[in-house]
Amino acid sequence: MNVLLPSTAEDLWRILGDNPDALLCAGGTDLLVKVRAGMIRPVSLVCLERLDDFRGIRDEGDTFSIGACTPHTEIVTSSAIDAFLQVLKKAVHVLGSPPIRNMATLGGNICTASPAGDTLPALYALDAELELWSRSHVRRLPIDQFITGPGKTTLRKGEVLAAVRVRKPAGKFIHHFEKVGQRQAMSISIANLAALVKVDQTDTIENISLAWGSVGPTIVRSREVETALKGTKLSVEGLKQVFPLIDRALSPISDVRASSTYRRRVSANLLLRLAVHEGCRT
Ligand SMILES: Cc1cc2nc3c(=O)[nH]c(=O)nc-3n(C[C@H](O)[C@H](O)[C@H](O)COP(=O)(O)OP(=O)(O)OC[C@H]3O[C@@H](n4cnc5c(N)ncnc54)[C@H](O)[C@@H]3O)c2cc1C
Repeated sequence: MNVLLPSTAEDLWRILGDNPDALLCAGGTDLLVKVRAGMIRPVSLVCLERLDDFRGIRDEGDTFSIGACTPHTEIVTSSAIDAFLQVLKKAVHVLGSPPIRNMATLGGNICTASPAGDTLPALYALDAELELWSRSHVRRLPIDQFITGPGKTTLRKGEVLAAVRVRKPAGKFIHHFEKVGQRQAMSISIANLAALVKVDQTDTIENISLAWGSVGPTIVRSREVETALKGTKLSVEGLKQVFPLIDRALSPISDVRASSTYRRRVSANLLLRLAVHEGCRT
């Protein structure tokens, strides 16, 4: 297997042009597991780790541009992310373990397109937009148009995910992320939920984004549930009212980690824990 290490964008486009069947490798924590298991046999790997253009967190005023090759550790330790994108920080904080977070990247988590990918619900709740570069042009699209199914994306040949663009939430939001796995650490999500909620002084919900992971072929963002909750009190009783809508929105499978029934139950309960966690009145 050829391992190719471009250090500039120009190098990258030349290498991709010369090796059209090469696979991209960022941290390798998903890709190399598949190579070792014999699930894929790449002839060439193009490693993205030396490309500074695809790495780092840039504050552009009302938006953050996070390089796709930014390792999770850099996200979880960033003061800018801490100040504005807590929901993403909370998701990254429980992804894998410190060595995994040092190697693995945000772009790798997105392009793997696992329904259980922990950063994805946070990015869906934040309405993240992806920036895809190829030699000749730049394409931008919302994350929910990029991921089309388990392991499936609309990434085109010769394209690289360069950056993830996220607008800073305007005003004061509750940022919530919680995952349920088979154990506390190093576990793949059985279900997870990212939530961004804005309440007024009486705990009435003014704005809410909810995104569940691991309970459908892709992340589930239910506008129906969000609309039903707007204008209601953020309370356990209030949240329970939308359980039938949540049940309709989810389509979990049964697998080695959990049954679909368990996933449905846990997903609804994760929403209740939002009110409990944030200390709202019941
Ligand atoms: C022990 C272990 C524990 C884990 N725990 C978790 C967990 O708790 N939660 C979780 O969500 N994940 C977990 N993972 C999965 C993995 O670590 C993450 O999905 C990680 O973010 C992948 O990033 P990477 O940079 O290593 O991706 P890679 O393995 O380098 O790449 C993954 C895929 O994305 C493509 N790709 C990567 N970067 C780009 C790019 N910039 N443009 C286009 N395509 C690209 C690659 O071609 C490949 O198909 C775990 C993995 C391991 C081995």
